[in-house]
Amino acid sequence: MDLMAWAKENIQFVGNSHTNKSSRQQRIPEMIVNHISEGTISSLISWFTSPSNTVSSAHFGVSKTGNIYQFVAIEDCAWANGLTSGIENATAELVLEKGKSENPNWYSVSIEHEGIWAETKGALTLEQLEATKMLHRYIIEYVKDKYGHDIEPSAKTIIGHYDIDKNERPNCPGELFPFREIIDFLTYYGLPFKDIKDHWAEDLIVDAYEQGIIKGYQDGTFRPDAPMSRAEGIALAMAILKKLKN
Ligand SMILES: [Zn+2]
Repeated sequence: MDLMAWAKENIQFVGNSHTNKSSRQQRIPEMIVNHISEGTISSLISWFTSPSNTVSSAHFGVSKTGNIYQFVAIEDCAWANGLTSGIENATAELVLEKGKSENPNWYSVSIEHEGIWAETKGALTLEQLEATKMLHRYIIEYVKDKYGHDIEPSAKTIIGHYDIDKNERPNCPGELFPFREIIDFLTYYGLPFKDIKDHWAEDLIVDAYEQGIIKGYQDGTFRPDAPMSRAEGIALAMAILKKLKN
């Protein structure tokens, strides 16, 4: 899928001249920080575009219906994760590596998710989950294009606000926030099977799949190191023969 075309269709830029932002201070985005909005998406949009808000913002907001709003360009720093003084309590690996003098806002992209922790504990609606998965993927691709930096999806790079400030923001985005599902989606994005990543034959397998020569198992695996039965061998030979006749 062309993610830039996807973004054009699915991300609405609503930031205005009141939206808080500043320079990244030459840092590049290295992690994505997830939040819960503690209110409706419309209150989030009005707060992030209001002249009376001089304290906070985020790059993106994802509604329960799966709509995506953007407030701040990825090139700019949004005010989403507290200032340097707020990282005393950080537990995030990357934040600890960077040290206390680095403001996490400088090297992150932040996403707000519509929801109230007391009601959802951070769980997302189906539409919201689908939207944020694609948004994460888009951000990774954007950063790769723009800065040549690969955000390798893991618990180190896809984090929650509580990883930065467990004392002030222990429930942001909430214990039911689907980190695992998002990281899995990002890890296997673009691969036809979920067990071929980093296998020596990964590219060959993808090629063969795209040529229609091989299929995987019903559970979405290919089992690249499993032995082949005689029937599977015949199926493979026939698929190749069919291909050669076309
Ligand atoms: Zn937050």
